Amino acid sequence: MALTLASCGGATYEETRSQQSSSQQNETSAPKTEQPAAPKAEKPAALTANNWKSGREVSQAEIDITGIDNCFVSTEIPDAIFAKMQGKSWPDNCTLQRSDLRYIRVLHCNADGKPQMGELVVNKKIADKVVKIFRELYDNNYRIEKMHLIDDYDGNDDASMADNNTSCFNFRFVPGTKNISKHSYGLAIDINPLYNPYIPIRNGKPYVMPPNGEPYAFGRDTAQFPYKIDHNDLAYQLFRKAGFNWGGSWSRSKDYQHFQWE
Ligand SMILES: [Zn+2]
Repeated sequence: MALTLASCGGATYEETRSQQSSSQQNETSAPKTEQPAAPKAEKPAALTANNWKSGREVSQAEIDITGIDNCFVSTEIPDAIFAKMQGKSWPDNCTLQRSDLRYIRVLHCNADGKPQMGELVVNKKIADKVVKIFRELYDNNYRIEKMHLIDDYDGNDDASMADNNTSCFNFRFVPGTKNISKHSYGLAIDINPLYNPYIPIRNGKPYVMPPNGEPYAFGRDTAQFPYKIDHNDLAYQLFRKAGFNWGGSWSRSKDYQHFQWE
């Protein structure tokens, strides 16, 4: 009997471990890490813009029927998404054109190494590059905990960071300043922000954002923890290769979660 466990590109540690444990048990028993709410559709449907829901795990059968290439898509901003953005990532004083942006649907490997739906709004200049990077991260089983639009957090970057949410476009000022952030143009992406905090210098002292990222803020050179972005990290390497700059290389403030196009 074939295992139906979905994996993120190639054999993974999770998959290998599950197969090993299943050899000692009934083959059909569920791995311990499987969520009770994981989809078990009898007749899997293809994944489309209409049934895409960020945060939902997907099965291998759904990926197979959809085609993996169709799980990594960039489109113009759909009406429903644009409506959702209003007053949140797209405030009344937003100076962009809707056509400047693209809506991206990608799969990512969640904390359990399972394929999960994610979505991003990015500038059209970087849309194709970003899709390619997330495909490569997925194929390499790179863990990204969640990827909801920041509108799901009412456009509140602090809430999104504290929830370790990966995001891109949000028309706003750099926190504590009057400057427009690269995120306002959809030209910067924050990856796993809880574990890779933003550490500006305020009144001469480092200030950790989000506050619950404090355990991951200092001593990074030697500390080991999940999702850590450093020079050996695959996301760092792919974004740099594609021409993005990393906030972790900034000389004064550090922004370990942040990759921006310049
Ligand atoms: Zn950022």
